[in-house]
Amino acid sequence: MCAKIAVVGLGQGGACAAYHLARAGHDVTVFERCAREETGYDWQDDIRADIFSLCDMPMPSEDVYEQKRKWLFVSPNWQHSLPVPPLPPMEEISVYRRGLCAYFAGQIKGAGGKVKFEAPVSGLLIENDKVVGIRTAEGEERFDLVIDASGMRSPLRGQLPQKYCVQAMPEEEGVLYGYRAFFHRTAGADTLEKGIESTMSLKHMGKAGISWCNLVGEDRVDVLIGRLGGLSDNDIAEAMEDLRAHNAILSKDMYFGQRVQICLRGTIPVGVADGYVAVGDSAFETMPLMGSGIESSMKAGKLLADCIADGCDFSAAGLWSYWTRWMKEFGAGFAFIDVLKRWALNVDPKQIDWVFGGGLIEKSDLALVSTDTSGAKPKIPAKSIFKKIGLLLARPSLTFPAIGCVVRALRAKSCAAHIPKKYDEKKIAKWAKKYTERLGAGA
Ligand SMILES: Cc1cc2nc3c(=O)[nH]c(=O)nc-3n(C[C@H](O)[C@H](O)[C@H](O)COP(=O)(O)OP(=O)(O)OC[C@H]3O[C@@H](n4cnc5c(N)ncnc54)[C@H](O)[C@@H]3O)c2cc1C
Repeated sequence: MCAKIAVVGLGQGGACAAYHLARAGHDVTVFERCAREETGYDWQDDIRADIFSLCDMPMPSEDVYEQKRKWLFVSPNWQHSLPVPPLPPMEEISVYRRGLCAYFAGQIKGAGGKVKFEAPVSGLLIENDKVVGIRTAEGEERFDLVIDASGMRSPLRGQLPQKYCVQAMPEEEGVLYGYRAFFHRTAGADTLEKGIESTMSLKHMGKAGISWCNLVGEDRVDVLIGRLGGLSDNDIAEAMEDLRAHNAILSKDMYFGQRVQICLRGTIPVGVADGYVAVGDSAFETMPLMGSGIESSMKAGKLLADCIADGCDFSAAGLWSYWTRWMKEFGAGFAFIDVLKRWALNVDPKQIDWVFGGGLIEKSDLALVSTDTSGAKPKIPAKSIFKKIGLLLARPSLTFPAIGCVVRALRAKSCAAHIPKKYDEKKIAKWAKKYTERLGAGA
């Protein structure tokens, strides 16, 4: 049966779903509020290259991506650093966000779908508690299903009847408030560690967040300052000064800068209603530690299209098959990470300095997690394991809270994995409350 489906937003999640649904013969229209050439960010971000084959999509053309740069993690006091282990070439890539959007639009059209740019959706059409269409500047249009892929600040979630328990907005501490800016490189200056282009400062200046300073090409320096819960102009100025003090490449000569928000929490408890489903950031389906949601949004879009191909109808009960699969396959793992992240961001920065510089993690250990197969795989010697256990036992102020946190994270994961199998409003409301508490998210 051919259904009429609206996808709100040309993000990766909605686009991946739109591509597969159009290929399956559905009448799919994507509504994107931005102009064609302004859709997506004007910069690059990192993803695994195999996400396209995993989601059964062709690889974009080579002008859309390049090899991911090398990263160095730096302790809050800038005294210690650990290079991220190398991966085989092109296993992880840096994609041009606008090129990626153009790629998706082309794929959807090629599959028989429509993409309308400069077409903001202002609201949902709801009749008898069921979503039956959308509102745009052109008027009302009826659809069998509305896929909400409009991002973390979706204007649509909050319009759903309360009985569906769909959270309207993320709580403040679930959002990384950021400022991303691009500068000229200081002439002749080098990166913090020679040969490593990207530097990530964890809990930069002791704050709950991160900052990075990356060399892109010969002359461009990419800066991100991100803080959980809020970022004032003063925070930006202070962080920029500190980054300049430690990164000689960072000049004051700016190309452009803009404020951004990154979704940094576990999946919302419920993302379906009759005639409505959320994918990607609009369902908070990001990996909560780094906010990397491109891959997870694509996986969610593919999962949704698979469930529809398997015959799920567009009622909340039918779409529940997508939601439970998401929670079991990805959401539960993300819940685990979310609890760890909330704890780590509140840990005394001195403890993190110690983790970096106290001998617990050494550069040789990092080779163990590398998937680069070019050399012989190293082993961790027994002597080194005993040394690490000794170090941890000698630091109970970090070790015992960390163990407690892992236990809480496992409970959150288990709760997410035990999502009610069948759609039952009462059971779901009870489970949603418990899941939110286990995440530590005061919705
Ligand atoms: C600074 C920064 C760095 C990041 N780095 C990475 C990274 O390295 N790796 C990674 O995987 N992820 C990264 N992310 C996160 C990533 O951008 C998101 O998780 C991902 O894009 C979410 O995809 P999505 O499908 O939910 O759609 P989104 O990308 O959120 O897109 C939503 C789309 O909906 C449109 N829209 C919104 N409202 C409406 C409306 N009312 N009507 C019509 N259209 C609408 C928007 O214009 C937009 O095009 C980063 C994000 C930021 C801000």
